[in-house]
Amino acid sequence: MATDPPYDGTIFLDRKIITAADPTAFLSVTDAGQAERLMFDRRLDDFKNFNAYLFNATFDDGLAAEIQVNPEFGSSDAARIQAQKYGAVIGKLPTALRTQVKTVWIHQGEQLFGGANNNLLIHTDQADLYERDGILEEALVHEACHTSLDEAHHSAADWIAAQKADDAFISTYARDNPSREDVAESFLCYLAVRYRSARISDADGEKILGAIPNRIAYFDAQPLMQSIHPIAPALLKLVNASASSELAELYNGKPQTADRLIEGPNNGICFWNSNDKGNDPTPWFSLQLEHRSVVDSLYIRWKRTHGSVGARPMKYKVLYSLDGKSWTETGVDQSKVPWLSSNLAVDALPGWRNPTRFIKVEMGESSYGGNGYFTCHYVLLRGHAL
Ligand SMILES: [Zn+2]
Repeated sequence: MATDPPYDGTIFLDRKIITAADPTAFLSVTDAGQAERLMFDRRLDDFKNFNAYLFNATFDDGLAAEIQVNPEFGSSDAARIQAQKYGAVIGKLPTALRTQVKTVWIHQGEQLFGGANNNLLIHTDQADLYERDGILEEALVHEACHTSLDEAHHSAADWIAAQKADDAFISTYARDNPSREDVAESFLCYLAVRYRSARISDADGEKILGAIPNRIAYFDAQPLMQSIHPIAPALLKLVNASASSELAELYNGKPQTADRLIEGPNNGICFWNSNDKGNDPTPWFSLQLEHRSVVDSLYIRWKRTHGSVGARPMKYKVLYSLDGKSWTETGVDQSKVPWLSSNLAVDALPGWRNPTRFIKVEMGESSYGGNGYFTCHYVLLRGHAL
């Protein structure tokens, strides 16, 4: 029996998921003159040819879009102000959501936004209302999901399986439009729990992870979803992994060795496995970064279950080192994991200030029982190389 969705619509969930003060990937707009463009205008509920003011917008991750401004704004100067304003807001969206945005339509009017046709549709009087409520960025996240994610994901077999396994929807809007709105409604919540856990309330975090854990795991497993600039810093390259113990036995064609830990999201196929024969009383793994770096955040994807039981540590601590020999505690441990439980497969953790070349995770209290059995799919670190 499916439970009731915790929200009506997720763009109203929390205005702090992306704010006006957050960084943008937007670089600039350049004037591209005035020319005829076929644009959808929700006031007409139809497409129409407009002699639009055109601007080429660029972003610092290499993406670009043509912003087409309705001639009703009256002059290229007035139109440029609109293009710059919304270019900067769109630049706050993660790369993954901007990949398919090739054009932007800007009209006046208090009409709902739209996302489709490799485009974002903006009506500026509606934008003013969203801005007043602090949810302009959240509304554009939702629409950009339609533009960049829907086609690849809304009917993917693994997505449908995640919907079934969750047996719940995050919002009534998603529940009532499961093929059209579920990806967009869910993704904003994924951003919130994965990258904004310190900004949202504990109650909201628990509601999201309680309602759609399998959809969150689905997004986690998609390599594209790791492209979230400028929401968080870039992934740091990991070049080596070792562990106190590992299993040579193949699982889905790969040994369960520490090498798996640095291969990135793998859709849950492979993992490192500690020696579960009771021969490893002090289990740990360590990872080497390509460059000395400041680590901004750490993400550990434990194996969700072993049989029906998890095999994650309920206690652990993270240490750092510059030479891989002398180690210092980072202060990051299981107490920093929001909503920790034996069923939680993903730990999204804060970083630390000290320059780091190696990290080590020392584990205890396996949720499987005992002290020697742990499984982990992969680890991601974000930050800045020095
Ligand atoms: Zn929608």
